[in-house]
Amino acid sequence: MLSINNIEVVYDRVILVLKGVSIEVREGSITTLLGANGAGKTTTLKAISGVLRSERGEVTKGTVQLANRRIDGMRAHEVTRLGLVQVFEGRRVFEHLTAEENLVAGAHKHRDRTRLRDGIDRAYAAFPRLKERRHQQSGYLSGGEQQMLVIGRALMSEPKVILLDEPSLGLAPLIVEEIFSVIRKLKDEQKLTVVLVEQNATLALAIADHGYVMESGRIVLEGPAEALR
Ligand code: ATP
Repeated sequence: MLSINNIEVVYDRVILVLKGVSIEVREGSITTLLGANGAGKTTTLKAISGVLRSERGEVTKGTVQLANRRIDGMRAHEVTRLGLVQVFEGRRVFEHLTAEENLVAGAHKHRDRTRLRDGIDRAYAAFPRLKERRHQQSGYLSGGEQQMLVIGRALMSEPKVILLDEPSLGLAPLIVEEIFSVIRKLKDEQKLTVVLVEQNATLALAIADHGYVMESGRIVLEGPAEALR
């Protein structure tokens, strides 16, 4: 579904951050990307989703393919239109909008009212708490609810592939378990393909099918999640 072939990424034309990274992601699987702070996990996700450019980064070597179509060099909105969306680290909700308005904002791809309503209902079915909080200003939601909201908002674009950057960061274990079980369910029931970046390896390997470990801009270990566990 997604194929990253030997990519190199440079920031500001001189800072070499990814030094030949290759990753294969099967359709309908959860692939986790593990590694310490600064290893290059977030940069890898940004290289895939096309947001690298807006941070003065560039893929200088290698290719990224989504379902056999080359997407490196495309802009983020074009990549989203092809069915791939990135959820950033740090739960960036539109704080002054309600939870439901945040979901509507995620549906910028289509204007059809029925589809919009269906998307909102699907987000609420995945995360019932969001429905309870739908009229609340999202800046006042708990950290866990905000994480659910940014994932729900990403789902509004009806993606085939979702990239999740550290969804567990700073959240209580019970909430993380709840969010991870939803991610698993989306994969099982809707065949969603997931790339999950995590620092918490134990957690990530518990739900992933396959894993990669990064160190200083390179992949140093790879294998089935069971073996990596
Ligand atoms: P974290 O868990 O902290 O997000 P990470 O594994 O995701 O770590 P990256 O955020 O991809 O790592 O960072 C990899 C390296 O690239 C780091 O050394 C970082 O300082 C550098 N870097 C990231 N963004 C930029 C940027 N916009 N300009 C220059 N260097 C950057």
